[in-house]
Amino acid sequence: MNILLIEDEKKIASFVRNGLKAEGYGVDCAHSARDGVFMASECQYDLIVLDLKLGDGDGVEVCRTLRKMGRTGPIMMLTARDSVSERVLGLDSGADDYMTKPFSFEELLARIRAMHRRFQPAEANPSYQIDDLHVEMESRSVRRGGRNILLSGTEFRLLAFLLQNTHRVVSKSLILEKVWGYDFSPESNIIEVYIKYLREKIDKGQMRPLIHTIHGVGYRLCVAELSI
Ligand code: CA
Repeated sequence: MNILLIEDEKKIASFVRNGLKAEGYGVDCAHSARDGVFMASECQYDLIVLDLKLGDGDGVEVCRTLRKMGRTGPIMMLTARDSVSERVLGLDSGADDYMTKPFSFEELLARIRAMHRRFQPAEANPSYQIDDLHVEMESRSVRRGGRNILLSGTEFRLLAFLLQNTHRVVSKSLILEKVWGYDFSPESNIIEVYIKYLREKIDKGQMRPLIHTIHGVGYRLCVAELSI
């Protein structure tokens, strides 16, 4: 289980990180709101521990941004005081639970375990098969023709979105909305860049490319008729 800890106070951050690591969790630390959002958008974490007061912003905004980006995993908010309004604000912004500082590490552990259990999917996550591309959503395993393909977090989310819409044309604006949130301007060429990355990993050297550009509209994932 991989945890992202977003906490600007380095002493607290290293205390929590060391404790979690000793329990066998993988832990990445971000010391600012900006880094936290970036890391959460690049990597898939099983759980995020998010401090409410960050040097360059607040946890509520971070939480809203992550939810807008489609991050549905559990978020534990750390609040500095036992303030009802802060707790309500935290939960309203999309956090799933909160803890009040100072907290006991044992309690944090117990709450993390409980949250993780709550978020286990009720049934097995789906897998997709299109041509010889096979994708398991939960383990994030991607294979084409038996060859393992390693994707970054963003590449995987983009592929997952295309797979959910197999055979349909998806517009660039829909991809921006669903894969990136609204945070990038449509002028940005980020989609083209990531489509190129995906093609290099999935389609390059293949007889039957799966990712197709529909000019002026968007993209479609499908097995195309071979044009002879
Ligand atoms: Ca703080």
